[in-house]
Amino acid sequence: MMVQPETRQMILRQLLVLLLVVLLSALLGSWFDASGLAVAAGLLGYWAWHFVQFVKLYDWLAGGRRHRVPESVGPWYRVFDALHRWRKATRRDRKRLLSVIDEFRTSTEALADAVVILSPEDHILWANTAAASLLGIERRRDLGNRITLLVRYPEFVGYMQKGDFSEPLELKLSGKNVRYLSLQVTPYLQGQKLVVARDTTRVKTLENIRQDFVANVSHELRTPLTVIRGYLELLQDSGHQAGDRGGEVLARMEQEAARMQRIVDELLYLARLEKSEPVRHVEPIDVEVVLRQVEAETRVLSQGKHQLDIRVEAPTLLRVRQDDLFRVLANLASNAVRYTPEGGRIGMHWYRKEGHLCLAVEDSGIGIAPEDIPRVTERFFRTDSGRDRVSGGTGLGLAIVKHTLERYDAHLTIRSQPGQGSTFIAVFPETLAAASGGSRS
Ligand code: ADP
Repeated sequence: MMVQPETRQMILRQLLVLLLVVLLSALLGSWFDASGLAVAAGLLGYWAWHFVQFVKLYDWLAGGRRHRVPESVGPWYRVFDALHRWRKATRRDRKRLLSVIDEFRTSTEALADAVVILSPEDHILWANTAAASLLGIERRRDLGNRITLLVRYPEFVGYMQKGDFSEPLELKLSGKNVRYLSLQVTPYLQGQKLVVARDTTRVKTLENIRQDFVANVSHELRTPLTVIRGYLELLQDSGHQAGDRGGEVLARMEQEAARMQRIVDELLYLARLEKSEPVRHVEPIDVEVVLRQVEAETRVLSQGKHQLDIRVEAPTLLRVRQDDLFRVLANLASNAVRYTPEGGRIGMHWYRKEGHLCLAVEDSGIGIAPEDIPRVTERFFRTDSGRDRVSGGTGLGLAIVKHTLERYDAHLTIRSQPGQGSTFIAVFPETLAAASGGSRS
């Protein structure tokens, strides 16, 4: 058996002690002429001493290690000393851990956000005080209860059942005063979850104020713009001929006024989109019909300067509103025309992929720099190369596409490389597919 050098020394020492006990007992016994008996008594004494130390250790362990570690000498001194040091260290670690837990509790108690710890089965293990006001979870009353029995909003129950926590859940709580909550779930260790809920009512209120402001300004601009355009048309009709200087100026003014009117209309449309509820349960429409309409429009826009390719590879019945799908596709297609130089290719493609239905618009145009890709759906954002071109757009097209898709739980994916072209894909959940519908190409 391989043992530590220290253990080897201890064994040697014990053998020596044993030898001494035997020799001394024999010597002592020889005076009384009873060496054998004396050696036996010596060995018994030796064994008894060890047995007493063993009982001390056993008793200490059986007593839940609450008392002081027993004291002893010889090899047992080493055993008890090691135990004593181990006990001191674990006590120190426990104290440190308790103070960390205490700190965690005090700091989470001080948080205005609700913090709830859940077991793998979603039972509440701990909650801070703010959880009471934000989620209605009282720590003393609700420990051990399943969270979905206490926070019963259908969106929350669905979110927990789905188990996809990559995005926070935005909850609107109706009541005397409407409140908004943003809820983030973080799984950790073996299935436990940390739920953090934040009151976002203030942010939402500011957002609403911004939306209302933009909508009101746009609305107020509408009438004066219509009047200006009316007068411009009147002036154009009365007298100035195309070609003369005044006529040119008026035509330019009319062009810019028309653009302003489009911006105002689109801003109003966006404001309405932002306020609208998600669209549920609409009758299915035929995607191919919309594709053909947009194809015809795109041919007019392109004036034969691009090669157009349409492919349909999935069933075409989709539960969306026809005008919404038309707006999405027409916006993407008009961008493809405007940002693809003459002679380029533009493709529109309907297909199924990984449980989704996809409507892709591809072009071989100027492309978008990687750092701009996440920003092109922002209002009025233009890439440098996009700005250089006389695009005639309003800068709101992709924002409208994004918000329209969000009404259907769909999203926009963008792939692009400068100089290599771009692919914009509207990705719809397959639940929007309707039963029948042919697959052609
Ligand atoms: P715009 O009216 O300016 O086209 P959009 O919201 O439709 O506004 O697009 C925002 C910006 O994204 C554009 O200004 C352009 O810089 C870039 N962009 C959009 N589509 C394309 C595309 N197909 N190829 C290259 N850049 C594009």
